[in-house]
Amino acid sequence: MSQMRKDIFTGRWVIMAETTTVQPSDFHFKRFTRETKFCPFCETNEASTPPEVFAIRNPGSSANGPGWSVRVVPNSAPRLRIEGELRARAEGFHDLMNGVGAHEIIAETPYHDRSLHELEIHEICDIIRAYIARRIDLKGDPRMRYVLIFKNHGQEAGSHTVSHSISHLMALPITPRTVKTKLITARDYFAVKERCIYCDVIQQEQRDRTRLTAENEDFVAFAPFASRFPFEMAIFPKSHNSAFSRTSPNQVENLAKILREILQKLDHTLGGPPYNLLLQDRPFLRHRGGYWNTIEDDFHWHVEILPQIARITGFEWASGFFYNPVPPELAARCLSSHY
Ligand SMILES: [Zn+2]
Ligand SMILES: [Zn+2]
Repeated sequence: MSQMRKDIFTGRWVIMAETTTVQPSDFHFKRFTRETKFCPFCETNEASTPPEVFAIRNPGSSANGPGWSVRVVPNSAPRLRIEGELRARAEGFHDLMNGVGAHEIIAETPYHDRSLHELEIHEICDIIRAYIARRIDLKGDPRMRYVLIFKNHGQEAGSHTVSHSISHLMALPITPRTVKTKLITARDYFAVKERCIYCDVIQQEQRDRTRLTAENEDFVAFAPFASRFPFEMAIFPKSHNSAFSRTSPNQVENLAKILREILQKLDHTLGGPPYNLLLQDRPFLRHRGGYWNTIEDDFHWHVEILPQIARITGFEWASGFFYNPVPPELAARCLSSHY
């Protein structure tokens, strides 16, 4: 019989199929393919993007020229713009504000033919350093409440025109609903138990090990108990930390290692799956006195990796539930058996 599982971090329900075996051929997704037409994110094409706002460069190289390992530029077709005032207002019963924010593209490598899981560890460390540097910089803008960092790999994960390995960064004037749900759940759990809900779950996953997929000195990865997507993975720092930007240099290296290990396992097991990668971090605290008083102790930043190999259907839109055809215990076993 299938199971209905509740996600402890969000309260969302998932219907988990009763399956004991799975083959990549059970899924019908478009494998990652690389476009070969002109690409503005390749080294030597720097003039085709807006001027860079951050880069990790070789000594002696000049801004907006070649000689970089990671390069951050404003999106040339941004969903939100950095210029202007928020001007929050009402229209009848409805709230609205101007589309103010930042939308940046992080070119993860100068080379067109390398995906994130194919990069060297020191190259992935540079990407993580770029995320941290941009987050710290955008914190200085008092209009922004949240920095969303995500990646769309492959067409079915939303990357329709760009096949160069990039991530998106969006600074938002509001905290996204999905993050707020997690923050409220974590705060309520802490109010009762005086413990971090994420620390409790991490310890249980490390003891139980049936959903564990990778581990090193600083990080642990597992398939979440109520995974929404087949082969969904989450990566958590082992020591409690609410803020991604406080990741230490040694932890940056171990994050790069576990991230590459998980992405390589997914790639080998599923054969080039499209996926979304999301960083779930705490918001900036702005004049909301008394609202997130315990966030330092109750929230625990993490990464989610969501392979997009099964379609979201009317059922998911109508119910807010997800249907997952691959239980996380089976997903974890499949990933381990390929190594
Ligand atoms: Zn390129
Ligand atoms: Zn914690």
